[in-house]
Amino acid sequence: RTALPRTATRAFSASARANAETLVFLETKGDSLVPSAANAITAAKKVGGKVTGLIIGKDEASVKPAVDRAKKMGLDALLVRTSPALEHALAEPTAPVFAELVKKGGYTHFAAGHSALGKNLFPRVAGLLEVQQISDVMSIQDENTFTRPVYAGNAISTVKSTDSIKLFTVRASTWEPAQEGDKEAEVDVKEAENVGPAQAEWVSEELVKSERPDLATAPTVVSGGRGVKSKEAFDETIIPLADALGAAIGASRAAVDSGYADNSLQVGQTGKVIAPNLYVAVGISGAIQHLAGMKDSKTIVAINKDADAPIFQVADVGLVADLFEAVPELVKKVEEA
Ligand code: FAD
Repeated sequence: RTALPRTATRAFSASARANAETLVFLETKGDSLVPSAANAITAAKKVGGKVTGLIIGKDEASVKPAVDRAKKMGLDALLVRTSPALEHALAEPTAPVFAELVKKGGYTHFAAGHSALGKNLFPRVAGLLEVQQISDVMSIQDENTFTRPVYAGNAISTVKSTDSIKLFTVRASTWEPAQEGDKEAEVDVKEAENVGPAQAEWVSEELVKSERPDLATAPTVVSGGRGVKSKEAFDETIIPLADALGAAIGASRAAVDSGYADNSLQVGQTGKVIAPNLYVAVGISGAIQHLAGMKDSKTIVAINKDADAPIFQVADVGLVADLFEAVPELVKKVEEA
């Protein structure tokens, strides 16, 4: 194998990066951007080259607040594509719109958050474009090389793609959110082309309404596990501690399956993957499937009566204690502070 001189290799990759053109799908909820859209923009910028945002909606007015925010987030351009069929971003009508935009626009990369919506839409777009999807990207080494977690986050795999278009979803918690600045990207609003057939129908959505910070993005999270023992005890221990710390509430799968907490609060491999500044695990053993959802938290505090519980292996601060004594005491101390 004849290696290129180092300078030539560098020159090649620098020009390849400059030629990269990334389209990034910016998810909306109601008329606003979802928080992970800002993280997806940061990942898209890491590819290098030009970055264009994409927002879809039933019409321009329905996504105006999202567009007003996104255009200030350091994008080179922002596309808005509208159609009544795109109102709920169902995969069947939406995926052909995306595939067409990527092909016609000559984009080299297409990115989105690794959310339920991203996971629903992107495999279909990948199928239409006949490329491989790269899921849950944690870092981008160059325009062809990505890292992503495997084995529930216990190993990190480096993936090199030779596809002409790199289609990837990003793990929001590993990317800092893009911030709004003074510069505004030019916005191109058009009716969507190539809308797919309505094979599925949007029936309804029931959202748990809460004044609490959102679990996915909250800087502090208090989670309860099976050790809390009942729904009543969960409400009497975990909620007051979360209130005192201004935290979001999370739960282990065992706590969710036992009915102590809502399904939407599950943290872990099959729940939410989060990385708050402070994660307080109460009565949680620390099974690998739970760790997969929280081990990247900046500071982990664990309260467990079993000194050998695996959660203590990842905890920065561990308290071996009965939670029914320790948590009320902690709440009192936090409220007094
Ligand atoms: P347990 O393991 O029962 O631990 C309870 C802990 O509470 C114990 O350590 C105990 O010492 C402590 N305790 C008891 N009483 C007290 C007390 N009075 N004071 C202090 N401590 C006390 N789990 C998830 O959490 N999230 C997931 O996304 C997830 N996905 C999964 C996917 C698959 C495919 C599989 C197979 C499993 C998954 N699990 C997931 C389940 C996981 O394996 C564990 O069963 C679960 O995390 C255990 O929850 P827990 O720690 O609350 O319960």
